[in-house]
Amino acid sequence: MNTKRPAPDFHEIAVVGGGPAGIMAAIRAAQLGKDVVLLERNSSIGRKIMITGKGRCNLTNSADMDEFMSKFGKNGQFLRSAFYAFFNEDLMDFFRKNGLGVKVERQGRVFPSDDRSASVVKVLEKSLKENNVPVMLDARVMGILNDSGMFSLKLDSGAEVLAKKVILATGGASYKATGSSGDGFHLAKLLGHKFNPLRPGLVPLKTREKFAAEMMGLTLKNIKVAFESEGKKIVSEVGELLFTHFGVSGPLVLDLSAQVVALLDGKKPVYISIDLKPGLTAEQVDNRILRDIGEHGSISIKTLLKEMLPVKMVPVFAKLLKLDTAKRINQLTAAERRGIAGLMKSFVLTITEPLPLEEAMVTCGGIPVKDIDPRTMGSRIVPGLYFAGEIIDASAASGGYNLQQAFSTGYLAGESAANA
Ligand SMILES: Cc1cc2nc3c(=O)[nH]c(=O)nc-3n(C[C@H](O)[C@H](O)[C@H](O)COP(=O)(O)OP(=O)(O)OC[C@H]3O[C@@H](n4cnc5c(N)ncnc54)[C@H](O)[C@@H]3O)c2cc1C
Repeated sequence: MNTKRPAPDFHEIAVVGGGPAGIMAAIRAAQLGKDVVLLERNSSIGRKIMITGKGRCNLTNSADMDEFMSKFGKNGQFLRSAFYAFFNEDLMDFFRKNGLGVKVERQGRVFPSDDRSASVVKVLEKSLKENNVPVMLDARVMGILNDSGMFSLKLDSGAEVLAKKVILATGGASYKATGSSGDGFHLAKLLGHKFNPLRPGLVPLKTREKFAAEMMGLTLKNIKVAFESEGKKIVSEVGELLFTHFGVSGPLVLDLSAQVVALLDGKKPVYISIDLKPGLTAEQVDNRILRDIGEHGSISIKTLLKEMLPVKMVPVFAKLLKLDTAKRINQLTAAERRGIAGLMKSFVLTITEPLPLEEAMVTCGGIPVKDIDPRTMGSRIVPGLYFAGEIIDASAASGGYNLQQAFSTGYLAGESAANA
């Protein structure tokens, strides 16, 4: 019987994680002539890319550098070098050169011209092949050691991969079925890194009031929201909100959710106030009702509410304001009229908690930017170790910013590991 273990596979650079960050890191290192291997735990690469943008993949945004960085809040500056190395135009060129056109939609969101995430993954697979990057699939990295400048990666199969440099690009810890279950944080910890607590970002929010469920599926357009807790206030732009069976979602809620999650940490009640008529004052809304009363006073309160509100909101308004909707509008009392106007300007629900991390579109927290050199994406703690993508504590609002972050940090990590 041959009891000899197979010799470990050796490469100059091992990239852990076949998402956008890891794939781009491997491609860039290979372009610079390095012997690089890409390790992916799934049987295919880019699983999360497949579900991005509801299957259409909002791969970047056409915003300029300053606006881009601002979307990442206080960690935006950290990404400057990565964006300089490989920004949105470079990414769009990359796809165009590989035969996939792109188009810019509202708010600068960029999509593949055929609206298919699968086409994005196909281009990435093609580029890996053209650059001769070996991709090891079904290869989950379970352990990592760093000994005298050489990394040893232990795979779940028992096999070992040796590499002089390692790029950790294992993503966050949400939508685990896509492969990103948070392994990278523990691998980094094994090497001596700390990570910031993981929290859901871009996540729908639960409300205490059950009437949200009565409006399930209703999208409010051109509205504004404000989240408030103990004198702190987060105000949105004008946009869209969606009612769900558990509470609220939609772009306005998702984009502010990371800040709301931080407010909820204070354990004090957090309220969302929805302004259904951001262009009007409460007085102007009241005047409109008065005009209606003057012009067609015999219509029912129900008819008036239907004209002013989406149908699904009518019974909720009636219940909250205790209105008898069968009454004529010229029977409305001044207090009832002002109640309607007031509720249209501030429709309040209580936020109890976010959906769990698993159901968040991005993970907040992770490897702190202070432990990573922004010029290289290299670890400040372990020489030869690099980070790329969502594993880094730098996430943004929706709009294509997070995928660009992954591609940019991946590119810079791959280039730095190759040149070091
Ligand atoms: C539903 C949804 C929709 C989204 N839509 C958009 C959008 O339209 N635009 C946008 O900009 N962003 C979007 N995002 C966010 C975006 O998908 C992520 O920010 C991005 O995929 C992060 O890239 P990454 O390469 O860092 O990580 P991931 O894409 O998560 O890739 C990490 C990879 O590492 C692998 N891996 C993990 N652990 C191991 C291990 N131990 N060994 C080997 N491999 C491992 C995983 O299997 C995975 O393939 C969306 C996210 C979700 C969940």
